[in-house]
Formats: sequence, structure tokens, C-alpha cells
Amino acid sequence: MRKILLTLLLSASLGVSFADNANKPTVEILATGGTIAGTASSQTSTIYKAGSLTAEQLIASVNGLSDLANIQYAQVYNKDSGDITLNDWLHLASEVQKAADNPKINAIVITHGTDTMEETAYFLDLVIKTNKPIILVGAMRPATSMSSDGPLNLYNAVAVAIDKQSSSRGVLVAMNEKIFDSRNVTKTNTTEA
Ligand code: ASP
Repeated sequence: MRKILLTLLLSASLGVSFADNANKPTVEILATGGTIAGTASSQTSTIYKAGSLTAEQLIASVNGLSDLANIQYAQVYNKDSGDITLNDWLHLASEVQKAADNPKINAIVITHGTDTMEETAYFLDLVIKTNKPIILVGAMRPATSMSSDGPLNLYNAVAVAIDKQSSSRGVLVAMNEKIFDSRNVTKTNTTEA
């Protein structure tokens, strides 16, 4: 009885209701690194290290994410996307397929560096078998930047992931308030967010 009461009190103080949890979709965030998880020594520095924040830190930095969905996450790897190897790709594909095959997961969001995001999006589009939404997202400025674009991009990616219209569309990229098809997306700008 004490345990039940404590659980109820805790969930009330966290603003989580059991009914809400059951009604909300569940999104698995698979973190792979990139600028979205990058950190610099100051808010204005243009020199930073991609793939520094953990999945947990990245998710914690986005206000309101848990209002949209039940969030689960896994750190697949944490690197600059220019350093991704074939083995990393195969490992990511198997984690994505595992999440897609899990009946408790409704959609998948992958945080990724933008340098090779288009290659990963197209690769996953070819090899993953699912109707569930799969959304890749990144950022042009590191997480520590004064004008970091990562948190809003990640919030929007989860919003796209839980939208019914995102099902059966293959892999999508959601960035800068736009949604791109994995077959046609190309990085054309290395500075603008
Ligand atoms: N070098 C970074 C990466 O691809 C660039 C970015 O994420 O925008 O990991």
C-alpha cells in the first residue's frame, strides 16, 4: 500500500498520469552523435566536438518532449557522422529493425550528423522493413551554441514521428521545420540552419 501511494505521489509530482502514458505513442530515439550532440567550450565558439552529449543529455535538453510521446532511447554510437564505418551502419540498421519489430514502439527517431545523413537515410530506407515512421534529425549548430537548432529540430522530429501521416513513407529527414524524403534529400549548405 505504501509503495502504491509513493508511486502515485511520484507520478503526480512528475506530471505523469498512467492514463496519459497509455494513450501516448512510444518513440524510440536512437542517438548516433553529430553536431546535434556536439559541445564547444563557449556559446559562441565555432570549434566544437560532434558526438559529445549522450542520448540522455540530448533528450533532457528538449522541453516538452515527454508531453508528445513516451520516450525510450538508446545510444547506438556517438561520433561525427564523417567517421561512421560500414560496421556502424550495419549495427544501426539492426537496432532500427529491432525497434521497428517491437510492438511497444510506434515510431523511431535517429539523431545523426548532417555530413552523411542523406547516405544513412537512403541506406535505411533500402534495408529496413516496416511501415512505422523512421525520422532522421540533426543540427547545424552544437548543443552548447547560443542559437542551437538541435532542441527544436528534435522536438519537431518526434512530432513528425507520431503523426499518422508519417506511416508507410519510408525513412524521412526532419530538419529546419521541413520534412524530406530520404531518396531526394541532399545537404546543400554547411553553415545555414
Ligand atoms: N560533422 C558533423 C557530423 O556530420 C556535422 C553535422 O552534424 O552537422 O557529424
